[in-house]
Amino acid sequence: MTVLALEIGSSRFAASRVGAEVGVDDIRQIPVPSVGAWDRCRELLLEVAGGAEVTGLGIASAGPIDMAAGVVAPSEVPEWRTGFGIAEAARKLFPKASVQLALDGVCLALAERNLGATRNVMDALVVRLSHHISGGVLVGGFVVVGRTGNAGHVGHVLVPGFDDRCLCGGRGCLEAVAGGLSAVRWAREQGWAGNSVSELVEAARVGEDIPAAALGRAGTALGRAAASVAALLDMDLVVLGGSLAEAGPALWKPLGEAVATHARLSFLPGLRVVPSQLGEVALLAGAGVLAVSAQGG
Ligand SMILES: [Zn+2]
Repeated sequence: MTVLALEIGSSRFAASRVGAEVGVDDIRQIPVPSVGAWDRCRELLLEVAGGAEVTGLGIASAGPIDMAAGVVAPSEVPEWRTGFGIAEAARKLFPKASVQLALDGVCLALAERNLGATRNVMDALVVRLSHHISGGVLVGGFVVVGRTGNAGHVGHVLVPGFDDRCLCGGRGCLEAVAGGLSAVRWAREQGWAGNSVSELVEAARVGEDIPAAALGRAGTALGRAAASVAALLDMDLVVLGGSLAEAGPALWKPLGEAVATHARLSFLPGLRVVPSQLGEVALLAGAGVLAVSAQGG
């Protein structure tokens, strides 16, 4: 039995074999390709398969997706913005494989439930702050998938006090403030000379004013969104991962303050936001859980 995991992320494509206990340590990755996206994906998958007969493939993709149709339409992959039938393409590549597709945030929630910080809780919000924002919701022990597979798009929860324009066409969405690319854009508008999300995180970590302010806005917005989601679903745990979560107090302090300010109902003061321990394997691990579950394993 050879099971593979594939990540269609906002900053990389990655693939790995899924080993015992959903270990995914041999990761191959490439930056998100601007052309030839499926050809590059195919190469990655064949490389990790190494000639073995693949029996299962789990795909974690940035949204939006159409889970029933097996179609992905991530905004970061120009060729796929109007939809690409990735499940069918994968079935042609590995005819013996059970191919499973889920939203990146759903895979994050699966990974945290099976391997990470929410193993012993029934209700939680899982958020990944990277170039974009992914989210997944665990309710009553189940990962919520939604009508079309897109539940968990916490990046498009509206946050009061912010009016930034969002790529979705709206204004004031969490992602428009706290997504890595949005935070970089805001910092540059304030006069910061850097360019990348990793530079912004490092600059905030060492206390540079504008990057720290950008991460401060992100933390405040995330705290407000988390308090709203927690009130809606009666949960007391938020697990936060992704590159921006590495920024230290510049993000975490305003985040904690916003949660304390807004999570005031009698069942909410225990609301905790904790860092994910899964690191960069989170999405692949979730895709692995998805694939292994479908194998009956
Ligand atoms: Zn939006």
